[in-house]
Amino acid sequence: MALTVKRPKGTQDITPAEIYKWHTVERVAKESAEQFGFREIRIPTFEDTGLFVRSVGDTTDVVQKEMYTVSATGDSTFTLRPEGTAGTIRAIIENGILNDGFPQKVFYMLSCFRHEKPQAGRLREFHQFGCEMIGAQNARADADIIALAKSVIDRAGLKNIQLNINSIGCKKCRADFHKALVDYFTPRKAELCETCQERLDKNPMRIIDCKSPICSEIAKDAPVILDYLCDECKEHFNELQENLKAMNIEYSINPKIVRGLDYYTKTVFEFITTDIGAQGTVCGGGRYDGLIETLGGAPTPALGFGMGLERLILTMESQGVEFEQPSGCELYIAPMGDKAARAAASLVARLREEGFYTEYDLIGRSLKAQMKYADKIGAKFVIVLGDNELEQKTVKVKNMTTGEQTELALDDSFGDKFSDLLMASIFDKLDREEEQK
Ligand code: ATP
Ligand code: MG
Repeated sequence: MALTVKRPKGTQDITPAEIYKWHTVERVAKESAEQFGFREIRIPTFEDTGLFVRSVGDTTDVVQKEMYTVSATGDSTFTLRPEGTAGTIRAIIENGILNDGFPQKVFYMLSCFRHEKPQAGRLREFHQFGCEMIGAQNARADADIIALAKSVIDRAGLKNIQLNINSIGCKKCRADFHKALVDYFTPRKAELCETCQERLDKNPMRIIDCKSPICSEIAKDAPVILDYLCDECKEHFNELQENLKAMNIEYSINPKIVRGLDYYTKTVFEFITTDIGAQGTVCGGGRYDGLIETLGGAPTPALGFGMGLERLILTMESQGVEFEQPSGCELYIAPMGDKAARAAASLVARLREEGFYTEYDLIGRSLKAQMKYADKIGAKFVIVLGDNELEQKTVKVKNMTTGEQTELALDDSFGDKFSDLLMASIFDKLDREEEQK
């Protein structure tokens, strides 16, 4: 039979066989976030379209080309979130969290939707781990948020991830920079892509971030924002670097990073790998001091980052990082015949109540097939339950790693004794691993 409906292009199924990789990165990200004092926030999957137009910016690729906008009945249009910051900041304002004292620190793990050309590491539905810090003006905060992103990357076990930083200044310094960009690009306006020709008037900095090969070629020698920073922004950028040094975080300055979202001010940064091909930005972020005001909150400085979980996992795979394996079944019970199956049912019920991970045969397989299944689910111990065992009220508990068998009475003490066996086998395994090292 052929499947008549397939998953949409650029989406992915994460199957039970792969989910342990996701659990690993999700755990790592959450642990780092909590260690830095961030608490989780959950927001809707779709928002009013205007939220993204106003925050991400109407001249960005995301808003101009990549949004999934749906029109519900009536006159409102909604957009599946292309990123997490706008919705998070909306929620923070809407829920009065701005009045709860600063800094506010939140993290989220969510799916994002962008209509892009699907490639390895570039999907139409992808997942981001993001952190936002609200109410901190000082560059110490920028260093701390960068340290948090780095902590996730380190904890995940990644090597050779490069941190690039830049400052794209504030409104004040950007005015002169925009003028310089217009002067630079105007003589070659006709060669720019259509979108960038429009951007030249509205938002020339976007041209630097354009992915079209002609635009990026032309943009190669464009003026860089670092030469136009005002004193305050310069000072902030220096302070960031001093703090990164104090935290022992290596970085490079890349004056060409402008980031693809309009709300950034001052600090921008990216963590890059060359191990997964062209889509090498594992994490991108920066400061967005104007966003809260733009969205109707009291002027409040803020900053954050988004980390692509697919890219994080791809990089871990390509670097051969080991993911945590799910813990296997502790005890598999192989009954022979219907009467034994009922005894097995009551035994698993009791053992699960005592906290064990245990399974027994549900589909009437032969003993041989059951042993194969036990192996597949990684069962640490197996017991075979037949008429003999039921009569004698004792079973042989087989350690599947060593082959060793231990006779245990099938009475109220079974759980306790099995627990001892299990603990001993865990210590054994640790000893063996220690010896191998
Ligand atoms: P890129 O330059 O690769 O397009 P971006 O600047 O659009 O990235 P952000 O909007 O800053 O990315 O999103 C933060 C992170 O989310 C990126 O660094 C990346 O890891 C991830 N990401 C962005 N778009 C996608 C996508 N289409 N598929 C998978 N991951 C993505
Ligand atoms: Mg992009």
